[in-house]
Amino acid sequence: VTTAERLAALLPGRFHTDPAVIARHSHDRSGLPPDGPAAGVVLARGVADVQTTLRVARELSTPVVVRGAGTGLSGGATAIAGGIVLDLHEMNRIVEISAADELAVVEPGVITADLDRAAAAYGLRHAPDPASVEISTVGGNIATNAGGLRCAKYGVTRESVLGLDVVLTDGELISTGRRTVKGVTGYDLTGLFVGSEGTLGVIVAATLRLRPIPRATATLTAFFGSFAEAAEAVAALRAAGVQPAMAELVDGPTLGAIDALQGSDLRSRGEAFLLVQTDGAGAEAEAAIAAPLLKERATSISVTDDPEVARELIATRRLALPALERLGRVLIEDIAVPRSRLAEAAAEITRISAAFDVPIYTLAHAGDGNLHPVLVTDPGPGEIPARVWQAADELFSTALRLGGTLTGEHGVGVLKRAWLGGELGPRNHRLQRDLKALFDPAGILNPGKAI
Ligand SMILES: Cc1cc2nc3c(=O)[nH]c(=O)nc-3n(C[C@H](O)[C@H](O)[C@H](O)COP(=O)(O)OP(=O)(O)OC[C@H]3O[C@@H](n4cnc5c(N)ncnc54)[C@H](O)[C@@H]3O)c2cc1C
Repeated sequence: VTTAERLAALLPGRFHTDPAVIARHSHDRSGLPPDGPAAGVVLARGVADVQTTLRVARELSTPVVVRGAGTGLSGGATAIAGGIVLDLHEMNRIVEISAADELAVVEPGVITADLDRAAAAYGLRHAPDPASVEISTVGGNIATNAGGLRCAKYGVTRESVLGLDVVLTDGELISTGRRTVKGVTGYDLTGLFVGSEGTLGVIVAATLRLRPIPRATATLTAFFGSFAEAAEAVAALRAAGVQPAMAELVDGPTLGAIDALQGSDLRSRGEAFLLVQTDGAGAEAEAAIAAPLLKERATSISVTDDPEVARELIATRRLALPALERLGRVLIEDIAVPRSRLAEAAAEITRISAAFDVPIYTLAHAGDGNLHPVLVTDPGPGEIPARVWQAADELFSTALRLGGTLTGEHGVGVLKRAWLGGELGPRNHRLQRDLKALFDPAGILNPGKAI
């Protein structure tokens, strides 16, 4: 009996082998092809469906690719030949919001922005806000430890996860963590599952820390003559003790792509665009410190305390990736460097672009030192040209040389696995593989990915 036959019998109406359904669930947004056709897709409706899938897969040694919304950028959710795609997007209930304890309990398929909106009814918010907030799931965010615009002040997804319910590969359900803001009993398994990219267990529920919606925000936008000057301006804010909730940086060529998408004229205004938001009771005071520091280096600056205008500006920033995806085939990189070395990293990106003759568009979560150099190549099928991979390779070694990392938030997936050992070192890498074997002795969860 095959895995597909067993699952068809055990999960009627939830297990699908229609090639069109399989095709729809086989890609993420990395542009990487699936490793081959999957045997079927489970559209799970509850924990029991997840447990059944894992028990059968483990017994028959069938690979399982867990999937939220498939917006990942590293190939983590691409299908594996002959494997099962375990899709959780229908497990999308917000189980509880506790205003008193400032927390939410959710199923993994909840769309991130939906949680944020639901929390708003209680005067609270879910702080992690990847640019994909309207299309990605909370489970996917946890499994990739997603960052976002507000992470500059509120930290990445990890900082909002208090506890998890996880189905292990033998089908057993465990709970990690707690509902308290503090707690140090035992090893931090919650932290281990956060960012584990579907390789250790399936997250079926999460207890998340919510935060009060800030009383006020002030949003500053500035255009600069160069990316480096904008990066220096961000460093100046830090040096002055300003703690922006977000500091998003977009280079001139990316502004051009956004203009083409939305019909604006941002490109004509500078070589770099910086969006800074301060928040909380001191928002205005912090903005008053920030404005002159930006003015010193910028060609133009404006400040608003109107939340609607701020929302529009942020929406424009979120258009950056979709705008670049229209230009050709994109390889979206995700290096992070110590914040003090942001300008240096930007200069290196310009050098690498010229050396390998690859157009590179750059946006950055500048408050975190996290840069997204986006390498654009001709559209169409076929392999990504060798010089593009060489440029990517050079980007990774540059990040490491500057004391940084291969991936700030998108994860290793398939895309960066070849470079992983270089950052971890052999002993650390071996230890990580030992951990994987402990949680997944049959090696069924996302084999060949992430570690
Ligand atoms: C336009 C755009 C903007 C983006 N902006 C950002 C950004 O600002 N910051 C950022 O960090 N990322 C960003 N991303 C990348 C992506 O949205 C994130 O990685 C997101 O967290 C993926 O969520 P998902 O639900 O789509 O997960 P998927 O792509 O479905 O899965 C991602 C990984 O998580 C695993 N996984 C998913 N759900 C579970 C689960 N319940 N249990 C165990 N493993 C699971 C999968 O196996 C896979 O390895 C962006 C993507 C796009 C397309």
